[in-house]
Amino acid sequence: SLDAVEAAINIMEDSPLFNAGKGAVFANDGTNSMDASIMEGKELKAGAVAGVHTIRNPIDGARAVMEKSQHVMLSGDGADKFAKEQGLKIEDPKYFLEEKRWKQFQKVKADDELKLDHSSDTSGSILDIEFGEGKKFGTVGCVALDKYGNLAAGTSTGGMTNKKWGRIGDSPVIGAGTYANNKTCGVSCTGHGEYFIRNVVAYDVSALMEYKGLSVEQAATEVVMKKLKPINAEGGLIAMDAKGNIAMPFNTSGMYRAYRKKDGKPWIGIYGSDK
Ligand code: ASP
Repeated sequence: SLDAVEAAINIMEDSPLFNAGKGAVFANDGTNSMDASIMEGKELKAGAVAGVHTIRNPIDGARAVMEKSQHVMLSGDGADKFAKEQGLKIEDPKYFLEEKRWKQFQKVKADDELKLDHSSDTSGSILDIEFGEGKKFGTVGCVALDKYGNLAAGTSTGGMTNKKWGRIGDSPVIGAGTYANNKTCGVSCTGHGEYFIRNVVAYDVSALMEYKGLSVEQAATEVVMKKLKPINAEGGLIAMDAKGNIAMPFNTSGMYRAYRKKDGKPWIGIYGSDK
């Protein structure tokens, strides 16, 4: 299931449409600073990279940290260097310069705002949908389950537009943006990272299942709708339990999401009304 998570996230990282890898948003200093993490639910192994600038696929960096180092999280230049030493694909920082993202950044920077990769404009045109300007998130994540009951989850992001001072979000933080445990579920989050860190969101979903016996749907909905929404913590998550039950709640107007079960038929949704 780790391979499936990595492969799915690689495709989205290589696409300019998502806020991860190629399409990562800009930090205040005009650089792209990416965060990613991955976890597997059998032995609870995990890896993460934070604030990296040159790893083409940050999720590969996270997996390498998990499998090839004695650590869980590497950051900044050290993480970039580690990835290079591991033979991962390295790009010149220019590779991540996407015109649309640059324009978005200039706008947000001019207003001195900190933004999720959307604006308050919800006109919903195709471009808005494609470039996440209609209250949708561009961070990418995946949860996978294999036939042995092993769950894995991963998340990759450029973070929030105009972030400053080396800000790191929830995405590379195990338990906040990503979590997996075969006893409960796999979770990957998107949204306003500061709230997700403080509310330990991904682990909270797992804990509600483990200690309170909630289903994945009940646990995920409880956290996103009853805990995050009342404090205006925008975002959502994807979660799957070890039987393949899926929950994908969000408290914004939309969240790109999809799944495929054993029958092979893909399901895709954007808005809350997509069922
Ligand atoms: N959670 C990400 C962060 O705060 C942003 C996002 O999901 O769009 O860095």
